[in-house]
Amino acid sequence: MPQPANPAILNAHQLRQCAGVVCVALGGEDLFTQAQAAVQTAKFVEFRLDSLADPAAALPTLRSFLAEHPDITAIATCRRAAYGGSFNGTAAQQLEILNQASNSGCLLVDIEIETAEELGQAALDELRSAGTAVIVSWHDFAATPPLQPVIDRMQPFAPDFLKLVPTAQTLRDSLQVIDLLENYSGENLVAMSMGFRGVLTRVLGPRFGSVFTFAAPDGAAGTAPGQPSLTMLRDLYRIQNITAKTAIYAVAGEPITGSMSPRMHNTAFAAAGIDAVYLPLETSDPAELQQVMQRLDIRGLSITMPLKETVLPLLAMRDPAVEHMAACNTLLRRADGSLAGFNTDVSGIVEPLQRITPLAGKRVLVLGAGGAARAAVYGLVEAGAHVFILNRTESKAATLAAETGATVQTRSAMATADFDIIVNGTPYGMRGQQYDPPILPVEMDCRIFFDLVYNPVETPLVRVAMERNIRVLPGVAMFVEQGVRQFTLWTNTPAPEGEMLRAVMDALQ
Ligand code: NAP
Repeated sequence: MPQPANPAILNAHQLRQCAGVVCVALGGEDLFTQAQAAVQTAKFVEFRLDSLADPAAALPTLRSFLAEHPDITAIATCRRAAYGGSFNGTAAQQLEILNQASNSGCLLVDIEIETAEELGQAALDELRSAGTAVIVSWHDFAATPPLQPVIDRMQPFAPDFLKLVPTAQTLRDSLQVIDLLENYSGENLVAMSMGFRGVLTRVLGPRFGSVFTFAAPDGAAGTAPGQPSLTMLRDLYRIQNITAKTAIYAVAGEPITGSMSPRMHNTAFAAAGIDAVYLPLETSDPAELQQVMQRLDIRGLSITMPLKETVLPLLAMRDPAVEHMAACNTLLRRADGSLAGFNTDVSGIVEPLQRITPLAGKRVLVLGAGGAARAAVYGLVEAGAHVFILNRTESKAATLAAETGATVQTRSAMATADFDIIVNGTPYGMRGQQYDPPILPVEMDCRIFFDLVYNPVETPLVRVAMERNIRVLPGVAMFVEQGVRQFTLWTNTPAPEGEMLRAVMDALQ
């Protein structure tokens, strides 16, 4: 039988009071160097002792570190290799290390359910008798099975905290964790999902009842896939301010691991003093997206590839650009729950150009005939420009030209052509890509060049244009402009454009 509660043991309320909701997970041979850096700004850390070659030998260092930092709340973990850790000793040796870590000042220890079952209740009671809170943990490094049976398996140990960490293969897997947190009747559950599709559980977990969540130390990889850094959780997602009233926004598409949108929009919400958080939701399934939107009461979404067309059947209202282009990059959830769709890519291209020059009557060459080029052609034709399309696959240029009233530009006629403006709507110049250029340097004959590629800021075509003294608009101008429009549609307030631009430029450095 488990022992009665020891009043010296931290409960969830006390833990949140003294340590907050973010625990920095430290792992690797430089554990104590990481710890020194982390405690400059964090009060709650986990020592993954199993990540050291000789955990027992590190205990004196742990003791002196915690003696020097009495305001730090620490978890000791020494997970065995068979259960996803790196410790190669026996269960008894693990218990001995955890006991010593507790005597060294760790107020919590983490013991995996498999080892707890092997050692039995007496081992947990031994740890607790010293006033240490015992977290019984369970991990699934591949999937998210039904979670209630895991809770049922842990309950007989009456742990001080239960920690469940499955892997989210889908966003629906993450919703299982959210449901578990919300339906759990106690106050001692810690739960989150590993993987990029689990990020939403790491950011929203405490808001749905998780006692705390984990962060990777700044500048280190972290101890689990998908773990955001301390700076991201605290300064970008502002996790400590997220409550049930916080409005949730997100970017959805696949892949989106490199998306700058969370940086830009979270910065914007903070700068505008709006109680909102913006998440990355990786999915290519509109039905899954709709389910997540409803479950989390998401107010608005940025939509990226490959969802721009497939979300159209979800829309109760479409703006004229969505209607015309059959592509949507912005969703707004209206008060009655219905979805309105907008395309802010078009204004993202047209507005920055119009701030430089009127477009009516201008000769504009658009390179490419994909999604970005399509938004450019549509917007520029609407603005009264004479638009020419040059594309690698000429038939696609012809189709787009026929739809929009633009003209096909042939390669052979490039030598004698001149334009007021050239817009690059191909991926040429994107970081990490090796392509042949869609246009030769001598063919860059224009007054303004707008490269829609935004990473890097200075693309090869931007360099050619600068060498030829052509005025340049970089792709960030489009990225920020379309984001400014989204922000205003969602919040009905002016967007802090300067801060948004700075956030994107900082990330692109
Ligand atoms: P997409 O739909 O795949 O279209 C790509 C277009 O580029 C196609 O017409 C393709 O020609 C052409 N193309 C691809 N590789 C080429 C090459 N090596 N030489 C010549 N033409 C080539 O892509 P997208 O969504 O339009 O995106 C295009 C670029 O725009 C991306 O790099 C992206 O970074 C940028 N973009 C920027 C923003 C922003 O906010 N700044 C927003 C959206 C997109 P074929 O028809 O022959 O295949």
